Amino acid sequence: MPDVRSKRCREMIYNTSTLSKVSVISPFYNEDLTVLLRHVHSLIRHSPRDLLREILLVDDNSTLPYLGPDLEEYFKILDPRIKVVRNTRREGLVRTRIIGAKAAKEEVVIFLDAHMEFNVGWLEPLLDRLVSQSKLVVQPHVITISGMERGMPEPVMRSGFGWDMRMSMYFLPSYLQQAYTTADVPIPTPGLVGCAIAMRRDYFFENGEFDPYLELWGGEHFELSFRTWMCGGRVEIVPCSKVGHIFRSPPYVHSNAARDIITKNIFRVAEIWMDDYKHIVFSAIRGCCQKMIQMPTFHNGDRIEERRLIRKTLKCKTFDWYLKHVIPEAGIPSTNALYYGEVMNANTSYALAVTDKNELGLTKMQLPKGVSLPGIYFTIDRFGRFVHDNKCVYTDTQTQALKLSDTNCYVGQNNSSWSMDPDNYGQIVYTGSRGRLCLAHVLTAPPAIGWVELQLCDKKNRSQLWRFTYQFDWKHK
Ligand code: UDP
Ligand code: MN
Repeated sequence: MPDVRSKRCREMIYNTSTLSKVSVISPFYNEDLTVLLRHVHSLIRHSPRDLLREILLVDDNSTLPYLGPDLEEYFKILDPRIKVVRNTRREGLVRTRIIGAKAAKEEVVIFLDAHMEFNVGWLEPLLDRLVSQSKLVVQPHVITISGMERGMPEPVMRSGFGWDMRMSMYFLPSYLQQAYTTADVPIPTPGLVGCAIAMRRDYFFENGEFDPYLELWGGEHFELSFRTWMCGGRVEIVPCSKVGHIFRSPPYVHSNAARDIITKNIFRVAEIWMDDYKHIVFSAIRGCCQKMIQMPTFHNGDRIEERRLIRKTLKCKTFDWYLKHVIPEAGIPSTNALYYGEVMNANTSYALAVTDKNELGLTKMQLPKGVSLPGIYFTIDRFGRFVHDNKCVYTDTQTQALKLSDTNCYVGQNNSSWSMDPDNYGQIVYTGSRGRLCLAHVLTAPPAIGWVELQLCDKKNRSQLWRFTYQFDWKHK
């Protein structure tokens, strides 16, 4: 494993003195044997002995025989700091972590996935941060294990959330790029990658641990990051701490039953933490993924109030505050929006952008999957407006260029209206004085990216197909 830290990170002197003891908590359910063994060996090899005092492997009632007593015997011989805790029934990732945290004895807890490996000096920079602040949740810089072995670029993105509650990464906004020019400075992050999370153990419990009513998998990293920010804490990526994770689509999330559980987790998090913004989440999930799903009704047995009480006890701020102060770049869709977000061309994967002449153009890069490019959000709303930043898209009568209006957009401006046909992943249709036309990305020879224009609609022309990041179905409201 090459040491992939930047020179500054390698030369830094970390203060780990006052918080010297760490319990690592790695839940596992039917993990591959070699992967789990490499995880443990990597932890032992790359963590200072005097800091890492406990490795808690919490078995969430795995069924694979090789994860049984033989494995425990092996760990006993390998290192007395390893403890295997066995759940007597399947609890799911979230409660399994809580079980681990309750069993942990040291001052700092680090929740890990059981298929991760660690770079040289991964632990000290995390502890350094936790020494200096108590209400802090920190996360290493996570990439794939093979990526880490090849050498690791410094982070350019931080996690946030998508309105459909899928993972969404955001490029560091410019106000942070100014401040975080050196590779060793912790970066505040609105969201978390779920696989590696560290904090003081007492803060973990004071801050409301995890929501134990989240079942199976999913939602907990949103819940923790919303809660931490809203309730007076802070969440950071520590770039000097480098770790690798096996990104995979978990085998147990694909059944219909599992999907229902995960959606319920998401709705639960929205219900408790997102105030009225929960309606946007419900509408985005109906729009993208689960057309038939109903607005959930929670009952006493769901213990929603019990978790809401945390907001009162800890005097937490509103989700509106979180949006405006922690993730201002995410933008807030209007409740009139039918389609919202980046507008990606299906043929080329470039997205709509606004040029310095206030004309519609295209992004310099193709839109990566699961990544948000702030500043290029558009809306088509129920009144037929095609809007960016409160300004209408219109066609200049002389040049026929697509432009943004100078003034705020009103309904019926320029006597034109816009819609999608048939739906998201369809044509963006203009109806107005020029007739019925469709937006197209006209490709030119590279390195030029081409331009956008209105053309006669042609269903067979893929460069006339577009997709907004979000489609909303507001029927539940
Ligand atoms: N896990 C668990 N019980 C479950 C599901 C997952 O203990 O019911 C463990 C799993 O073995 C892993 C961690 O929780 O160590 C996170 O799950 P996974 O890596 O599948 O999630 P992802 O990283 O893909 O989000
Ligand atoms: Mn994982």
